[in-house]
Amino acid sequence: MSPAARAEIVVDVAAIRHNVAALRRAVSAERPVQMMTVVKADGYGHGMVESARAARAAGADWLGVATLDEAMVLRAAGDPGRVLCWLTVPGEDYRPAVEADVDLTAYTETGLAEIAAAARAVGRVARVQLKVDTGLSRGGATLEDWPALVAAARRCEQHGDVVVTGLWSHFACSDEPGHRANEAQERAFRDALQVAEAAGLRPEVRHLANSAGALLRPSARFDLVRCGLASYGLDPAPGHTAHLWPDLGLVPAMTVRARLALVKPVAAGAGVSYGHTWTAPTATTLGLVPVGYGDGVPRHASNAAEAWVDGKRRPVRGRICMDQFVVDLGGDDARAGDEVLLFGPGTGGEPTAQDWAAACGTISYEIVTRIGGRMARRHV
Ligand code: PLP
Repeated sequence: MSPAARAEIVVDVAAIRHNVAALRRAVSAERPVQMMTVVKADGYGHGMVESARAARAAGADWLGVATLDEAMVLRAAGDPGRVLCWLTVPGEDYRPAVEADVDLTAYTETGLAEIAAAARAVGRVARVQLKVDTGLSRGGATLEDWPALVAAARRCEQHGDVVVTGLWSHFACSDEPGHRANEAQERAFRDALQVAEAAGLRPEVRHLANSAGALLRPSARFDLVRCGLASYGLDPAPGHTAHLWPDLGLVPAMTVRARLALVKPVAAGAGVSYGHTWTAPTATTLGLVPVGYGDGVPRHASNAAEAWVDGKRRPVRGRICMDQFVVDLGGDDARAGDEVLLFGPGTGGEPTAQDWAAACGTISYEIVTRIGGRMARRHV
């Protein structure tokens, strides 16, 4: 970190490569399963293109994104491989994605018709994956509408507008391996596959599992798993993954650090930060960390998270502000300019993104995806 830098996010792309390779080995232990690395939302805050490159270098067969724009950014960056996109709204212009050979998700007949029309307009066959809602009650055709969607897709195939390349669904509770919804969703998915296959669809891939599903539910791996969080080294099911996969060795790829802007003593009784939600019980030394919720540091970390200064965890005192927050240095003589780690891989004792998530009552997905704002990001 340059001495003048206020704060930065450092992304270890070798860690992403390592994680994707480790996940591939883990899920293919019994039989080969294809790997999709999910790089939506700017690679969960790690940089979409850089993460995609790292994933491909480690053998990712597919990349997964939410939006058409994200898919097109991958193509513009020169990624020629399989990309699945899954979240569009009526009236979107599918033509560039069809021309770019992006796999598009359809879960309504209207959406399918729009993709087919785009395919005719550009004179290409669109690659389409049909999504069924097996119990998340989010995207996907209902089980009732599924046979009609499948029949419509088959007709589009016969017209030569589309080829159905995949059939898929998404878990609601895969991070709770004992939850009965997992079994029910897997069963519903198998039934939906049968309906599609009986109607003559012959997809390249059938898939259901995200990171937690891939690791904790081998029966849900089908032909392909879609790993997001675990690819960035974070545990998708804290409390469950470690004992099943003691040697998986995921490495968190993101480190967030800053430099103390100011160190100063305060007397006992000093109220700290807006609202004086913390009052120093004894005289202490405070360190001013020059990042705040304007940089994606969650305000829920107020009086809850810890940062790492000079080899020790230091509690956040008072409220996180827009540009800054305060840590308690407990009388130690840190100096302005010293490095503060908000979170990192945890190997040196520093807090992790998962620690921040636990302190904030959220999930590590939200911590890494939202951090950024004005902070510089560097890939190493
Ligand atoms: N598949 C879909 C459809 C998703 O929306 C996501 C992310 O939310 C994933 C897979 C990856 O999930 P995870 O990050 O838990 O592996």
